[in-house]
Amino acid sequence: MDKLIDHNKAKEFQQILKESEKIVLTCHVRPDGDAIGSCLGLWHLLKTLDKSPTVIVPDKAPVSLSFLPGFKEIGIYTSHKEFCEKTVEEADLIICCDFNTPSRQDTLAPVIQNAECRKVLIDHHTEPSNFTDLVFSYPKMSSTCELVFRIIAAMGLYDKVDRDCATCLMTGIITDTRNFTVNIKNPDIYDILMRLLEKDVDKDRIVKEALNTRSLTSLKLEAYALSQKMEIFPEHKCALITLDKGELKKYSYERGDTEGLVNRPLEIRGMIYSIFMREDPDCVKISARSCDNFPVSEICKTLYGGGGHIQAAGGEFHGSLEECRKKFLDHIGDFDKFLDKGYMGEE
Ligand code: 5GP
Ligand code: MN
Repeated sequence: MDKLIDHNKAKEFQQILKESEKIVLTCHVRPDGDAIGSCLGLWHLLKTLDKSPTVIVPDKAPVSLSFLPGFKEIGIYTSHKEFCEKTVEEADLIICCDFNTPSRQDTLAPVIQNAECRKVLIDHHTEPSNFTDLVFSYPKMSSTCELVFRIIAAMGLYDKVDRDCATCLMTGIITDTRNFTVNIKNPDIYDILMRLLEKDVDKDRIVKEALNTRSLTSLKLEAYALSQKMEIFPEHKCALITLDKGELKKYSYERGDTEGLVNRPLEIRGMIYSIFMREDPDCVKISARSCDNFPVSEICKTLYGGGGHIQAAGGEFHGSLEECRKKFLDHIGDFDKFLDKGYMGEE
C-alpha cells in the first residue's frame, strides 16, 4: 500500500506535522472533488491529531461537494479575504494540494507565496514548480486523494483515518476517476478502495452526490450544448463545444453545472478527444478530455498556456470566446500527429 511513497519523505513530513500547530490546507482555483477532497481529508486527519487546521481555497467550490463533512468550514478567499489572509499569516505550515504551480491559485497565489512558514506540496500533476520545502509529486496517481491516502498509510496513521476523512478522500478518487472508469491503471487503487470502505464510507452516496446530482437547468444546458453547440471534426476525431455568457445566463449557470459536459462527446464511437470552452467572467475556461492516450495536455499547453494530464487537461484564454475557438481551429491539424495509434505519451 505505502510502497510507492518515499519512506524518508513520509518521515520528514511526519516530523514537520509534529512541529506544526496551525496548518493551512489549500488547493487550485475552481476547486473540484479532488482538490476539496484532499484538503478536507487532511483537515479531518489533522483534527484527530489535535492540530488546528484550516482549509483556504481561492474561490467557491461547486454545490455538488457541499455534502462533504467540513465543507461549511472552508475559507473562500474571494468571499473572506481578511479571514484568509490572517489565517495564512498565522500558519506555521501550508500544505498545497492538487496543483503544481502557484499561478493555479489565481489571486490567492501571492498570499500563499508571501507566507514565510514551511510549505509542503502534495500533487499528481506533471512538472511541479519549485515553491515548497517538501514535495510529494506523483503524476501516475489517479488523484491527489489517492496520494494523500498513501502518504497517511506510509506515516503509519491509517488508524487515525475516521469516516469523515475517508469520505473526503474517497470523493476525490471517485471524481478524478469518474467512478473508476478513467485514469486507473494501477490495480492497487482497488486496495485503497477497500481500505476506505473499511472505514464505513457510503460510496453510493458519494457517487450520487458528487457525480450524479444536478439542477434541472444544468441538465437542460447540457442538452442544449450537445444538440445545438457541438461541432464535430471527423477527420481530426475531435468535438468542440463552446458556450458564451448569454447562453450560460439563459440556463442560470452556476459553478459546477458544466462539470462532465466535456466527457459526453467521447461517447461517440470513434471520437478521440473533446474540447469545451466556456466564457467565464474573467477568462475563457478550456476543458479537454481524450481517450487512447491522446495528449490533450499538449493542446492546452501549447495554445493556452495551461496543462493537466494526458487525458484530462485545461487552460485559460484571455480574449473573446470566438478568438479562443478560432485559435484552436487554426491549429487543429497540428495535433493530428498524436492520432496515430503509435503515440506513446508519457503517462
Ligand atoms: P478541468 O477540465 O476539470 O478544469 O481540468 C482538468 C485537468 O486540467 C485538471 O487536472 C486540472 O488541474 C488541469 N487544469 C485545468 N485548468 C488548468 C489551467 O488553466 N492550467 C493548468 N496548468 N492546468 C489546468
Ligand atoms: Mn486532481
